[in-house]
Amino acid sequence: MLVFVTGKSGSGKSTFAKQLSKEIGYKYVDVDSIGHSVYEIPGVIKQAEMLFGKVIFDENGTFDRKKLGQIVFQERNSERVKDFSDLTWHYMQSQIDKILKENKNVILDWILLPHTKYWKMLAYKILVKPIDDKLRFQKLLERDKVKIEYLELRDKASIQYNESDFNYIIRNDFVEQKNKVHINLVKEYFNKPIQFEALGTKSPFALPDSACPSYYLKIGDNKILLDCGSGSHRFFDMDNLENLNIFVSHLHRDHYNDLFNYMYTSYSLKNLGRLKEKINIYLPTSPTRIVEDIRTEKLTYSNVYTFDKTSKLKFNNLNIEFLDVEHSQVTDCYAIKISTPDKKIVYTGDVSYSNKDKLVEFSKDCDALICESSLLKKYNFPDINSHLTAAQAATVAKESNAKKLLLTHFWAEENLSNYLEEAKEIFDNTVVLREQDKFYL
Ligand SMILES: [Zn+2]
Ligand SMILES: [Zn+2]
Repeated sequence: MLVFVTGKSGSGKSTFAKQLSKEIGYKYVDVDSIGHSVYEIPGVIKQAEMLFGKVIFDENGTFDRKKLGQIVFQERNSERVKDFSDLTWHYMQSQIDKILKENKNVILDWILLPHTKYWKMLAYKILVKPIDDKLRFQKLLERDKVKIEYLELRDKASIQYNESDFNYIIRNDFVEQKNKVHINLVKEYFNKPIQFEALGTKSPFALPDSACPSYYLKIGDNKILLDCGSGSHRFFDMDNLENLNIFVSHLHRDHYNDLFNYMYTSYSLKNLGRLKEKINIYLPTSPTRIVEDIRTEKLTYSNVYTFDKTSKLKFNNLNIEFLDVEHSQVTDCYAIKISTPDKKIVYTGDVSYSNKDKLVEFSKDCDALICESSLLKKYNFPDINSHLTAAQAATVAKESNAKKLLLTHFWAEENLSNYLEEAKEIFDNTVVLREQDKFYL
């Protein structure tokens, strides 16, 4: 897990980042100091002298980092500054990469990260923002012993952050005891990193206040939509399309009808300048007729990919795997497993009880099992059907040692307490999902 703490110079970001690293046991990395250590490498100062001349040395002929810093700051866009930056950045990257390889959990403290390849790898981003710039300047004047004009100039040249890119913003008033409060809030988030929302839980039709299957997961910066059944897009905030990954468990209409709403919306929002990146859509490979229909859709701003049981996807610190299950003669169907370093979530898709053993194996020790339970025992369906009963879903949860069972895919006219009662007889920690239920997993 890669955590990023930043803020303008003098914002108190390093104080906070160091305290946080101590509290949560993450390795603290001050990227600036890696940048400074670049001058210890033989040849770098020679290179700097070739580019900038003798002015980077003091009267005793010793290299003076501040003098070089001033030139770099004054002629930010010159060729020689760019050449020198490339050289130092190359070294810094190799050092950062090494640290990330050796440490599982890292806090990066740096001002410039948004412009680097690391930005996309961050699981959590914290911005430290002083409530009052006067206080910040006061502290900087004491610390750096420079003129206020210089600070203002440096501020102007420094990076402008987009607050909505951050998971957490600390309005720093420099009362250090308050850092403790922020640290506790951040810790709470780390312990509950998966935000879950049910957008649709009924099939094959829905009533005015419900929709066909769809579930939204926000895991760190990763946004995942599992299925998009009829009517479910009503419960999704379309301004949240940026970087959305949509997975369709199988191409039955009750699980993908609203895909076209997402696609057309992506097209419209792109044209309005409200969507930067294409949405990503992941489908099973068959039925090919439907896959082709989706793939050839013109009015969309999306990438369409297919997956099968051998596919293993990786998003930052997330792994996604697929289990082919029997459900219907006419379409492939997959259970989907999402794993973070600490949590495992399994969504069954639609599934027959004939898959019980492999489903139990696939769901072993998961933190949450989102499981279809279309049927009820009391209606005497045959044991092996194209769907599960609530009791069968509960049995899978029990045998796989799941921590929590989230029941879904209900007949819209059925009384939901019937599903709950049937499942609870076998597996106690059962929740019956309803549209717009929202909680942490
Ligand atoms: Zn189905
Ligand atoms: Zn279904």
